[in-house]
Amino acid sequence: MSTTPSVIYLKDYQVPPFLIESTQLRFELEDDRTLVKAELRLTRNPECQVKPRGLLMHGDESLRLCRLAVDGQVLTAKDYSIDAGALTIAEVPDQFILESVVEIDPAKNTALEGLYLSDGVYCTQCEAEGFRRITYYLDRPDVMSVFTTTVVADKARFPVLLSNGNPVAEGDDSDGRHWVTWEDPFPKPAYLFALVAGDLKHIEDTFTTASGKQVALRLFAEEKDLDKLDHAMTSLKASMRWDEQVYGREYDLEIYMIVAVDFFNMGAMENKGLNVFNTSCVLASQKTTTDAGFQRVEAVVAHEYFHNWSGNRVTCRDWFQLSLKEGFTVFRDAEFSADMNSRTVKRVEDVQLLRTAQFSEDAGPMAHPVRPASFIEISNFYTMTVYEKGAEVVRMIHTLLGPDQFRAGSDLYFERHDGQAVTTDDFVAAMEAASGRDLTQFKRWYSQAGTPVLDITDEYDPSESVYRLRVKQACPPTPEASEKAPFHIPLQVGLLSPEGTDMPLENDATTVTLELTESEQTFTFTGIPQKPVPSLLRGFSAPVKLNYAYSQAELVFLMQHDSDGFNRWEAAQKLGVIILQALIADYQAGRELVLSDALVGAYRAVLNDTTLDPAMVAKVLTLPSQAYLGELSTQIDVDAIHAAREFAMNALACALEAEFSQAYKRCLIDVAYQPSAEQVAQRMLKNLCLSYLLRAGKPEYLALAQQQFSDADNMTDEQAALALVVHSNYQDAAQAMLSQFYSRWSQESLVVNSWLAVQASNPCPGALSQVEALMQHEAFNMKNPNKVRSLIGVFCGQNPVNFHAKDGSGYRFLADQVVALNELNPQIASRLVAPLTKWKRYDETRQQLMRDQLQRIMDSAELSRDVYEVVSKSI
Ligand SMILES: [Zn+2]
Repeated sequence: MSTTPSVIYLKDYQVPPFLIESTQLRFELEDDRTLVKAELRLTRNPECQVKPRGLLMHGDESLRLCRLAVDGQVLTAKDYSIDAGALTIAEVPDQFILESVVEIDPAKNTALEGLYLSDGVYCTQCEAEGFRRITYYLDRPDVMSVFTTTVVADKARFPVLLSNGNPVAEGDDSDGRHWVTWEDPFPKPAYLFALVAGDLKHIEDTFTTASGKQVALRLFAEEKDLDKLDHAMTSLKASMRWDEQVYGREYDLEIYMIVAVDFFNMGAMENKGLNVFNTSCVLASQKTTTDAGFQRVEAVVAHEYFHNWSGNRVTCRDWFQLSLKEGFTVFRDAEFSADMNSRTVKRVEDVQLLRTAQFSEDAGPMAHPVRPASFIEISNFYTMTVYEKGAEVVRMIHTLLGPDQFRAGSDLYFERHDGQAVTTDDFVAAMEAASGRDLTQFKRWYSQAGTPVLDITDEYDPSESVYRLRVKQACPPTPEASEKAPFHIPLQVGLLSPEGTDMPLENDATTVTLELTESEQTFTFTGIPQKPVPSLLRGFSAPVKLNYAYSQAELVFLMQHDSDGFNRWEAAQKLGVIILQALIADYQAGRELVLSDALVGAYRAVLNDTTLDPAMVAKVLTLPSQAYLGELSTQIDVDAIHAAREFAMNALACALEAEFSQAYKRCLIDVAYQPSAEQVAQRMLKNLCLSYLLRAGKPEYLALAQQQFSDADNMTDEQAALALVVHSNYQDAAQAMLSQFYSRWSQESLVVNSWLAVQASNPCPGALSQVEALMQHEAFNMKNPNKVRSLIGVFCGQNPVNFHAKDGSGYRFLADQVVALNELNPQIASRLVAPLTKWKRYDETRQQLMRDQLQRIMDSAELSRDVYEVVSKSI
């Protein structure tokens, strides 16, 4: 790094001095270069107080400028200057046309930002600042322009030429090339620009909007994948209908397109009218995709579609406001998935992710508020905090306002700001105006980082029939602030009678929302005839940690009786945590491990209750994860946590073998495969039972897993059996299954990714050398982010025992990969480094080993801004 990268602050925001009324682009795609001709109609921004004489345009160093003209006058080198990241024209009029021609080389673009090639298909990724790798521009979200785009390419090799909006003209040139012109009538920032050119095929359908407009829906992929697009199409139509019904939002263009590409840094991108998707988030078929994969496709298709309003029609003023579009849209897609599938299961899965990945981010060196105050590289802020915690913040507004006022608030937000680039404050202001509520204190959720901790105690006074809850809130220090002001927290609570029924509370409601606004508060419930068992934080109504001294008996009681499905699962988790924490302490002290009867009994009752949703049974019978137990520890003892969990699962397997075996049989499905909530639930429980049965140590269960592997008619069952055997002690059987699986699926890139991931997450000894060997395998490609994530990402993030090996080999391996990727793809490199940044949570020896590797990355050649920011903040 020649100079230290500069920090950009929210407080320095200024409106742009110029606006771009219209943008005309012409792309000439050739093998060794692409010519980009731009004609921009610029005008001074009337809102800008200062009137600079010159004009500064963003532009990456890789652009080669061929021509530059203002109002037809060609500029010479004395009229402008170019330095890293910008083109400055010394003097410009108030209104003018800027013409430029630049040359770029998509084939050499391994960062996958801007215009690049994915397996021979040209595609773009412009969010956040990729457009400046395509041409000189005011590449900031508050500059919105109407785009007209012409794409020219060889007709035989690139028969499909796409961009945003509607196609308005096309033609053939004499030299075997052809062109198509697209016009997008909606002004948009450059980050929503998209271009695709390639030999693609598509499936087509139509959707009639609530007001009767016909929309053409086209989903593009390589020909071999055409049969895997139906689920995405069904999901798209369902999301379009849902957004009309739940938010009153209609689609606005005549065509909506999705393109699947294999080389992609993220999941998918909501470019106006032309979404570009990672294949992993759009392709789905019974044979090649797991149930979780089907649900992911449904959720991501919906998420990107919902952005058409929450993101595109109303966009962000600047990148500090990223959660304006992402937090809101994640909340919207979570509600959609909850409506399509099981609401409680969806909530449990979201909370599991939040409590492991987001809470640990909040406790680490990269902790930042939902609306960050500064950044070096914006790509580093596409985080769990901005997305998932941002969605929790919107969910809390929904809880505080109730569904009707929330809907009125969102209607007002869209009405007020359609066609504008706005802030999270504007969003909250619309919610306040529609509801009449004051959310001033609530807005601290946007500006304060860290996970609040609630300490709750209670008392019951039988003579007065009064029950009191005393709640204290506190928030640990984070890098941006050591002192935190109290948050406004909606705490949903129910009280259970000793018989296990909900006691009627205010207005006979069985759940009430307590509003915490101070650091200490007492809530009084009157007319409570008996001492209740409290059901606290129902539905996980706020992203907080909660401490209340439940006894094991109370948790078993809540597991059986709580009317809130989420809290029934939560009671099982809390019971699991208490028991596992005791086992961890025993392991550390060298004591013999003994499994508590309370857990066996509670699990048995749940397994035998055939009235429960099998998916919830599976969730309840899954012990707290290694990551969650780590997150709850002051110092993470990877080996002790692993040993305690392994012991508990093996002991449960032996104690409940008969029950698991019966439940396995009950869940066998003899009708045709469907990715329906009902079948997904049965397969989830069946495969959980199989995981326990394999631990019972009997050859018949290995045979059962092998039989499921070879007989399965769907990828969920096949992959579950593979992973369970690979992660077991049956290593000979595992090797045979792995090679069988690979030869069966070597032509299916996404299935091969799961084959890589199953091996990378193997807790057995020797996983690192296996991963290193796989990096030389034909199935691996360091330039493809999906491969990197499946192998290197999974090993470092989901194989704690091997990654944290005491000799530091896992850390060294990760540092090597980060250094290699820093040059190829900085975004992926900086995401991968995350596990090393959490060094403070481990013992002293590991801390030193991890810091040594961070320092080694820091000292290595030229670091990208992406990696520099994460590593320098972590050391
Ligand atoms: Zn998004």
